[in-house]
Amino acid sequence: MKLLEISRPSRPQTDYPEHTLLTPGPTPIHPRAMKALTRPMLGHMDEEVFKLNRAIQADLREMYGTAPGAFTALLAGTGSLGMEAGFANLVEQGDEVLICANGSFGRRMAEMAARYGANVRLVTAPLGEAINPGDVADQLGNAQMVAVVHGETSTGVLNPVPEIAEIVRRSGALLTVDAVTTAGMEPFEMQAWGVDYVYTGAQKCLSAPPGLAPVAISERAFARFAARRQPTPLWYCDFEGLRGYWLEQTYHHTVPVNLHFAFAEALRAALEEGLPERAARVRMMGAAITTALTPLGFSPYVRREQDRLPTVLALRLPEGLDDAAVRKELRKREISITGGLGPTAGLIWRLGLMGEAARPAPYRILMSALEDILN
Ligand code: PLP
Repeated sequence: MKLLEISRPSRPQTDYPEHTLLTPGPTPIHPRAMKALTRPMLGHMDEEVFKLNRAIQADLREMYGTAPGAFTALLAGTGSLGMEAGFANLVEQGDEVLICANGSFGRRMAEMAARYGANVRLVTAPLGEAINPGDVADQLGNAQMVAVVHGETSTGVLNPVPEIAEIVRRSGALLTVDAVTTAGMEPFEMQAWGVDYVYTGAQKCLSAPPGLAPVAISERAFARFAARRQPTPLWYCDFEGLRGYWLEQTYHHTVPVNLHFAFAEALRAALEEGLPERAARVRMMGAAITTALTPLGFSPYVRREQDRLPTVLALRLPEGLDDAAVRKELRKREISITGGLGPTAGLIWRLGLMGEAARPAPYRILMSALEDILN
């Protein structure tokens, strides 16, 4: 008998239906990333993987607009790990942290910072409105860190990061920015604005599979980290351990190599398309969808045009539309969109315009299904 000749009845492979994914993340995986996922596995300490990692680091510097020597890396987790790693490494017991919280992700930041020992103060804004930079200036006090979500996914609001950064820079506090719904699709200038720590999630504007948080860390942030009184309580994302793996090729933990393969392709595809071109694509798509949905009774939820987050189109529902029933019917037709969260549930829809979602073809599918369901 041959050693490996064990026969088992084989199960037929499942055929999955095509799906139109138009949520505010995850987004459809870029075809180049999908292909890279099937590449044969390599070890996380393989020279070829380190070479790929260096290319990813350089591309991330371009995407975030960092200083030439800024440290960039991928964390092995989703956007929330990017958020948590920043507070874990850059905040110590008793630090004053000012958080701009005008939605659920700003509030998530506040909770995390508090868990890492910060004295948290909040700058808030009414639901559906951006943070007022003047409020940040008024409440800055002796904060050692200010944190803000660039694109607040829960309400479709774009916060004025460059203006907030200008105020924070003058105070000497570190600035942390959540760029989960913006980086790779909206302009981001880490160096020019003066951002110290920024993160996103691979599954958002870059259309890579979920499971990686691309981060960039300024020299100032590293200096703050180096002066810690206590080691960072989150061993898994300790900046020193990360630096060891990404710069000195020393083992820290087993990185998800196949996700690195896919991510590298998705990021390359984004940079080849061009960041300004991607920002223009989102705007063109947002305007076309709004125009198409206006006759059906939809209208922009965010009142002021400059506060609207281009990558997450938040639309107020027409009077009398049964939100849950319509979305259920769409889902039956293999189309996913997202409703409001908390106080905006039943009031708005949030349509994803990140990465590969911001294309005419999937939105044509949505429009024709809606015409059919609503008429
Ligand atoms: N920050 C923002 C602005 C988000 O939209 C999200 C997710 O939607 C997160 C953080 C958390 O990211 P993840 O779900 O990848 O952990």
